[in-house]
Amino acid sequence: MVYDVIVSGAGPSGSYLSYLLSKNGYKVLQLEEHKEIGKPVECTGLVSERVFKYIDSKAKINEVHGANVYFPNNKFIHISKGEKTIVMYRDDFDKDASAMAISAGTDLHVHSRVIDATISDEYAEVKYKQDGEIKYAKSEVVVGADGANSTIRRVLNYERPEKIISTYQVDSSFYLEDQDDVNVFIGSENSKGFFGWAVPSGEITRIGVGVDHVTAIKYFKNINNKFDGSKILGINSGPIPINYLKKTYGNRSLLLGDAAGIVKPLSGGGIYTGIISAKNAYTALDNAFNNGDFSEDSLKYYQKLWKKEIGKELFVDRLIQNYFSGISTNDKLLNKIYEKINNEDVIKMINRLGDIDYPAKIVLSILLRKPQLLKYFIFKS
Ligand SMILES: Cc1cc2nc3c(=O)[nH]c(=O)nc-3n(C[C@H](O)[C@H](O)[C@H](O)COP(=O)(O)OP(=O)(O)OC[C@H]3O[C@@H](n4cnc5c(N)ncnc54)[C@H](O)[C@@H]3O)c2cc1C
Repeated sequence: MVYDVIVSGAGPSGSYLSYLLSKNGYKVLQLEEHKEIGKPVECTGLVSERVFKYIDSKAKINEVHGANVYFPNNKFIHISKGEKTIVMYRDDFDKDASAMAISAGTDLHVHSRVIDATISDEYAEVKYKQDGEIKYAKSEVVVGADGANSTIRRVLNYERPEKIISTYQVDSSFYLEDQDDVNVFIGSENSKGFFGWAVPSGEITRIGVGVDHVTAIKYFKNINNKFDGSKILGINSGPIPINYLKKTYGNRSLLLGDAAGIVKPLSGGGIYTGIISAKNAYTALDNAFNNGDFSEDSLKYYQKLWKKEIGKELFVDRLIQNYFSGISTNDKLLNKIYEKINNEDVIKMINRLGDIDYPAKIVLSILLRKPQLLKYFIFKS
């Protein structure tokens, strides 16, 4: 049987695309390397409510409305919003997304690891290992939704994301009294190139750190030590690709979500952006099937669509992240920035504009209101 589309990976991006395609009558084979959807968890599970417009899921554990951002001087600014941010069980969320795809007719095979893919004029062919046995399947198009270390990306010779953040995150027994705020830690003790976090998740706290080009454990220990008497209940780390690829399409192939580096560079959040990439992949694929044209030229429509929706935000976020990465261990400068932004007007503005999915406008608005901060952006001292 020749499928219309083979999707590698059953994370949120792959399952949402499989759902849309199957719902609209396309024959989809989805291959997932693990036996259980959603496991192992490599995520904090913090998302905006928007995500639940796409994925029908009851995986919510907690709602938070604000964040405490801790600076190297141990002082913090508190920002808060009327809108809630959801903390969820990520494994249940992935299962719910997968259930949507299966119910719509997707042929999902678990314990099926894609090991190779080839493209010819007539079809795409995928080689995979299912329960130890080598198998092959053909389709019009193959989609890599197989995460940060995408096999499809590698075997079809796409470039790798320019920047990959390493993380170390645990489920901690520590109970945070304040269940309404996420805690963010910046400065040389807490991270190099990114930040640390502690997210109230009901009975447990998700404590973690992201770093660029160094080992995370040293920074993780510094953050974890702030939570006296806590016990580590489980580790759920993983890589976060934070720069989208220049090209996310090819002949008979597309890359989605983490595989394409379509992730918010400032926060490392990729669930919403992955779902947006899947939504736009569906439109481009539907168009390709209607025209019977699966060439690179036809599928570039995918990139045009996702960039139109979130490209500008990701681009500006990336510039800000690159700058922040460069000053992430400059405690003196970070403390100066704290002094500048720790005032009622700025905090009010952050509260008004803050949006977990679209953070660039906060930074740009602060710079407009506090142009004296621009000199720090330029001189870094
Ligand atoms: C520590 C940490 C915390 C994070 N916290 C957040 C957060 O709070 N909020 C947020 O929005 N994002 C967060 N992220 C990012 C988020 O997890 C990803 O952006 C998101 O999972 C991307 O979804 P995806 O479907 O593109 O890829 P994935 O969720 O990675 O799914 C890829 C799937 O493909 C499968 N796969 C891989 N290779 C193969 C293969 N060869 N064959 C078959 N299957 C394969 C994998 O098993 C997996 O199921 C975090 C990431 C990390 C590491």
